[in-house]
Amino acid sequence: MQHDAYRAMWERLDLDLPAHDGLLQVLGKFYGDIYMSQQGRLQGMEYLDFVLSEVHGLRIQELQDAKAQGRKVIGTFCVFVPEEITLAAGAIHVGLCSGAEAGTELAEQLVPRNTCALIKSFIGFKLAKLCPFTQSCDLVVGETTCDGKKKAYEAFAEHVPMLVLEVPQQKRACDRELWKAEVLRYKAEVEALTGQTITAQSLAAAIRTVNARRRVLQRLGALRAASPAPISGRDALLINQVSFYDDPERFTGAISTLCDQMEARVAAGEGVAPADTPRLLLSGCPMAVPNWKLPYVVESAGAVIVGEESCIGTRNTRDLVDESGTTVEEMIDAIVDRYLRIDCACFTPNSERMDNVVDLARAQKADGVLQYTLLFCQPYGHESMKLARRLEAEGIPNLAIETDYSMEDVEQLKTRVEAFVEMLRSRRG
Ligand code: SF4
Ligand code: SF4
Repeated sequence: MQHDAYRAMWERLDLDLPAHDGLLQVLGKFYGDIYMSQQGRLQGMEYLDFVLSEVHGLRIQELQDAKAQGRKVIGTFCVFVPEEITLAAGAIHVGLCSGAEAGTELAEQLVPRNTCALIKSFIGFKLAKLCPFTQSCDLVVGETTCDGKKKAYEAFAEHVPMLVLEVPQQKRACDRELWKAEVLRYKAEVEALTGQTITAQSLAAAIRTVNARRRVLQRLGALRAASPAPISGRDALLINQVSFYDDPERFTGAISTLCDQMEARVAAGEGVAPADTPRLLLSGCPMAVPNWKLPYVVESAGAVIVGEESCIGTRNTRDLVDESGTTVEEMIDAIVDRYLRIDCACFTPNSERMDNVVDLARAQKADGVLQYTLLFCQPYGHESMKLARRLEAEGIPNLAIETDYSMEDVEQLKTRVEAFVEMLRSRRG
């Protein structure tokens, strides 16, 4: 009965129903193999299992209900789009995931073949009519981060209502001015879209909501420093992925309960893997849902992932917006400053990222760093070489992997990751 209601909703959203059925089937099997096969999962992960099982069902229904009440839905592809402003204007902010291969042939009619999988994915999902989130959006916000994305948005704008924010590529005073002007432009666009004026009260509440979600994810990250590791890297990644499209307050509550369970586990000296398991930090490009390939390969090779230095990880949660502002102007300044601390590889120079990776590897007691770069990603490809030299100088082993969303290289990845894990094990021994 419920399934029929969902089908009617997907039809109204103009999805390609047979292709969408196929996608849900593949996703369900993939999730079962990678997630449900794990031992010793925390009870709180049931919430994440439920949210993921309803990702195209209940959550989309919630968006439709909100739209029926006059609220707007804004989709994004980058952690640079200030969610606080979206929420302060009463709109819903969703990350459009882009973590699976879909509609690739169609996407390659709009962007060159040698474009990263993430970009091809968001275009492919739209053109193949597979994403109910994109279909629900009243506005999609892009950003001029990497060249691949900014040129892709030109083509994408013919298919969705788009706004592109200009993100500076350096962090001088004049860049801050440019970014502030863009944040104010975003505020004006969102106010026009929603018909709501952002007030000091609504902005302060939105800042608190988003900070609370960041804080609970920081708490989760800190608990992963314990040995044995209290949660698998796969589960922690899923939590970060779900944070991009779940209701923020509900999500914060659920993850807070899960962190309580983790704390009890840490206090009891229990974990998901023995204490002598090699610990790895993942670093690099974002892993959007349902991109679980590399974490699965790593953890099947006998290691445990203890952190993600990525936008689906600490790059999104490390910095809070200062909450002391009392006027809209002060709060906008705090937002501008917080977002300019993001250490995306699109910045030049970007030496703070090197420091942040080393600090995180030490804080999480990682035995090594696994650098993950999507094929054809220039910014992270370049920084991977620089980061390898820095890690070497710090005495932290690292392995650089370049891959995409296809399964063709899984065996090859396994061989390389297993050899790396074995080396870390013998180093420990
Ligand atoms: S890696 Fe850079 S471009 Fe990609 S989501 Fe993060 S901040 Fe945005
Ligand atoms: S993975 Fe790299 S190339 Fe792809 S969108 Fe992100 S920064 Fe751009």
